[in-house]
Amino acid sequence: MKILVTGGAGFIGSNFIRYWLEHHPADSLVNFDKLTYAGHLSTLKDFENNPRHRFFEGDIQNPDAIANAAEKGIDAIVHFAAESHVDRSIYGPIDFVRTNVLGTTHLLEWTRQHPQTRFVLVSTDEVYGSLSLEDRSKKFKWGDPYQPRNPYAASKASADHLSRAYHHTYGLDIMITNCTNNVGPYQDPEKFVPLSITNLLEDKPIRIYGDGKYIRDWLWVDDHIMGIEKVLLKGKRGETYLFGGKSEIDNLSLAKRILAKLKKQESAIEFVSDRPGNDRRYAMDYSKTLKELDWQPTLGIDEILDKTIAWYQENSWWWKPIKGRKEGVVITHG
Ligand code: NAD
Repeated sequence: MKILVTGGAGFIGSNFIRYWLEHHPADSLVNFDKLTYAGHLSTLKDFENNPRHRFFEGDIQNPDAIANAAEKGIDAIVHFAAESHVDRSIYGPIDFVRTNVLGTTHLLEWTRQHPQTRFVLVSTDEVYGSLSLEDRSKKFKWGDPYQPRNPYAASKASADHLSRAYHHTYGLDIMITNCTNNVGPYQDPEKFVPLSITNLLEDKPIRIYGDGKYIRDWLWVDDHIMGIEKVLLKGKRGETYLFGGKSEIDNLSLAKRILAKLKKQESAIEFVSDRPGNDRRYAMDYSKTLKELDWQPTLGIDEILDKTIAWYQENSWWWKPIKGRKEGVVITHG
């Protein structure tokens, strides 16, 4: 199979390529990425010369660039490329609409001209809005109404709606995945977990929004990738698959666990004013995905943190230059 991977110089997309090259030796991948502040060529270092991987710098808002990247023929698109950082969407929503809505629509248009192509849109749990802290038994489930509450989530929700519309209107082979927060290697150090880990490794404080009681359900990035693999190989046309972790924890408790694992004092925590419209809790009921694709998360929060911390400890060559380039950019965390 030949796969066009968009956003393959970013966090999840690059881990997907790494995984796919290893587990599918007959397949080849075109990695299509604009290299924004979130995409890094250094992320591709261990597979950039693999003959089954071809990097193509381009913008999904440009239909000619999409056509050029796909000109040798592709069987599937796995669409990761996005403006993905909620904080940035609050201060500059326009790029989110351009890439996440318009860019996705250009990819769908290309697929309309090549209707034999399988298309997987990688989306988020945030399209469903926010759960309360009180009733912890409630989770987002398949078919729940969309209630996005920040510009990032609204742009992703729009992309989901458009993808579904292209499936229904043109009969295209499109599937959508909605997933909780991922953690793992090569996550940009402006996101909460890698920012916290790398700050502590540099003896800097960890910043926590508001009261820190914001619950997320963390998922090991390879668990997500193995879910996308199942969707691509066995998913049903037009279907939506939800992925969640087994690691619900609030940001403050998560920060304290990272501190303990790095043997740092809790005085390293700095509380900062809250993010506007911050969603209290996300959690996914993935029982339908378990039943239909036999998928479930393998790692819990402690294993996820241990593996992630170890990776950032061993790979300062990767994150230090990236953090250096972002010096002066006002981002608290994602
Ligand atoms: P990321 O920000 O690390 O990477 C995004 C990549 O897309 C970057 O390499 C960037 O250069 C590229 N890109 C941005 N705009 C582009 C454009 N116009 N044209 C081409 N390339 C462009 O993001 P990520 O965390 O790897 O997320 C990947 C996808 O998964 C996103 O669609 C995101 O919404 C979704 N998702 C992420 C998470 C998470 O926890 N990270 C959870 C659920 C869903």
